[in-house]
Amino acid sequence: MYPSPFDYTAPTTLNDALAALTSTVGAKILAGGQSLLPLLKQRLIAPPPLLVDIAHVADLAGVRETERDVIVKTLLTHAESAKHPTLGHAVPLLATASSWVADRQVRQRGTLCGALVNADPASDECCAVLALGGAMIARSPHGTRDIPAEVFFVDGHRSALQPNEILVELRVPKRRPGEGWGYEKLGVRGGHSGWAITGVAAWISMCSGHVTAARIAISGAGRMTTLAHTAAHTLIGTDGSDTAIAEAVDQASKDIDLVADMNGSAAYKAQLIHVYARRALTEAISRAKKESY
Ligand SMILES: Cc1cc2nc3c(=O)[nH]c(=O)nc-3n(C[C@H](O)[C@H](O)[C@H](O)COP(=O)(O)OP(=O)(O)OC[C@H]3O[C@@H](n4cnc5c(N)ncnc54)[C@H](O)[C@@H]3O)c2cc1C
Repeated sequence: MYPSPFDYTAPTTLNDALAALTSTVGAKILAGGQSLLPLLKQRLIAPPPLLVDIAHVADLAGVRETERDVIVKTLLTHAESAKHPTLGHAVPLLATASSWVADRQVRQRGTLCGALVNADPASDECCAVLALGGAMIARSPHGTRDIPAEVFFVDGHRSALQPNEILVELRVPKRRPGEGWGYEKLGVRGGHSGWAITGVAAWISMCSGHVTAARIAISGAGRMTTLAHTAAHTLIGTDGSDTAIAEAVDQASKDIDLVADMNGSAAYKAQLIHVYARRALTEAISRAKKESY
């Protein structure tokens, strides 16, 4: 099916993109088009009056590092994120999540930041960024603001970005000694393939054999990608043993408002959280122990 007609512009600078976005009420950004174009073609959403294609804005491409963080600019595709040497070394959880998105074709065109704005509750990268404690950097004609991942995902398919803002960068902390990560999901096409029926990303920090900080993000099981706060808290101060993991795993599904959908009942999602949280936490703690001071 073809989408209804809309106007289109392809600016080459960020200022021009912002001017275009704010020139027309209801205008929308087009990045890789892998979520927006299927919705338009299937006429599941009304066409915006103007699409602002940011693919040619050179200021929005690339990856850079500071001492503490990796900064991903908005045009980085899933495929680039999956094989980028800096991300692979400093933020392997994110690189892994990107490598599990969709298929090769979609990964070549779709962008990491587009997936974050799209805020699909079954998204691999939303889950990873939430577990990593990343932050989104949004630009509007009035300036720049940082939005922590914890408050960025407002609801299913709804982010905290305002209609006059462009997500220009994602900032994620670099892995440090004593930190470990794990990511596991059951995809709709089985194994790690396709949107998460349920996915769990875990980030753990350990010092002197004890867990000092933890984050557990869960995708697919609720209305939006969510942190399992109480489950993560039960790990703090423990030695990360199987018993400590079992206690966190028992809590994890209670932290989420589970939803039944075409992929399964709430009880099935709870069972998947149980299985995948155990796997993700076991991986994360084993890596944290190996990479301790
Ligand atoms: C066949 C298929 C399979 C898929 N499988 C998976 C999967 O297994 N796992 C998974 O996680 N995802 C999957 N996806 C989802 C998809 O890969 C991402 O949602 C997609 O790549 C989003 O990025 P994009 O650059 O294509 O965004 P677009 O489609 O261009 O935009 C998406 C939305 O975000 C807005 N937007 C984009 N960038 C910005 C910006 N910088 N600032 C402000 N607004 C912005 C747009 O206006 C639009 O509303 C799949 C998609 C397809 C088509």
